[in-house]
Amino acid sequence: MRIAIISRNKNLYSTRRLIEAGEAKGHEMHVLDPLRCYMNINAKEPEIHMRGKELPQFDAVIPRIGASITFYGTAVLRQFEMMGTYPLNESVAISRSRDKLRSLQLLSRKGIGLPVTGFASKPNDIPDLIDMVGGAPLVIKLLEGTQGIGVVLAETRKAAESVIEAFMGLNAHFMVQEYIKEAGGADLRCFVIGDKVIAAMKRQAKPGEFRSNLHRGGSATLVKLSPAERSTAVKAAKTMGLNVAGVDLLRSNHGPLVMEVNSSPGLEGIETATDKDVAAQIISFIEKTAQFHKTRTKGR
Ligand code: ADP
Ligand code: GLU
Repeated sequence: MRIAIISRNKNLYSTRRLIEAGEAKGHEMHVLDPLRCYMNINAKEPEIHMRGKELPQFDAVIPRIGASITFYGTAVLRQFEMMGTYPLNESVAISRSRDKLRSLQLLSRKGIGLPVTGFASKPNDIPDLIDMVGGAPLVIKLLEGTQGIGVVLAETRKAAESVIEAFMGLNAHFMVQEYIKEAGGADLRCFVIGDKVIAAMKRQAKPGEFRSNLHRGGSATLVKLSPAERSTAVKAAKTMGLNVAGVDLLRSNHGPLVMEVNSSPGLEGIETATDKDVAAQIISFIEKTAQFHKTRTKGR
């Protein structure tokens, strides 16, 4: 097959591993920088060009679209979909998962366990917002944060009020969330492909820290999931419409709770922690499922 990887940088670990895994199985792998693609939009023959040439037809496309280029990256992916190329993850599902509030609303509608969450922009009753999620201690998150930055644990009601006031002063959207203390500074990254969790790791925060992000000094190890954790992760990915997803769970005393569903999960951490060939499993999934014009959205 001729497979395109939409990625800004062919030297990134995940991109390199996907090229290796694809080539090992005899596929023709191309890395396309979405920002270099330009497109014509017409009813009959949608095209994508790059460096003065029309791109050939691809059988499948693997989107690796960073959060900062979601808007243009998903437009390029949509153009591939309109041309009949099979997308590993569809543009609509990626856009959906990039919107944290929309994601939590969809997940809750399907009855998936979530930490009790409130969201607000300029609440005029902060004490009521705090009560809504059960009072202190609570976690306050800037909506635009990544890698744990902008995630604050407020131990007391006073602290929570001050942080909320500070975020409001920044004109930022934010969420307030019940603090899952029993998670013990750990979360689970479940790597879902199709209807299976094919690899999972536990990320543990460093001592004195509640955020388990590897960028915040957390460490990752192989973990065995319970059946409930597996089914929650798969259901969350399905709800978002993602074939491939990194689902982050917290272990609470009332079962697994979904924190986030990531549509471009990185391969380095999970392959290192689990010693599994995740890239090869992604390519096998494409071999099994890719068909011309097999996308529910067709870019719509
Ligand atoms: P980011 O998307 O920036 O990584 P997260 O929402 O994933 O932010 O939060 C970062 C980390 O903080 C999580 O990996 C988890 O370890 C911890 N954490 C987040 N929310 C909660 C919560 N409600 N209860 C307990 N720990 C949490
Ligand atoms: N019902 C779909 C959703 O809520 C809408 C399709 C779309 O995402 O545009 O995600």
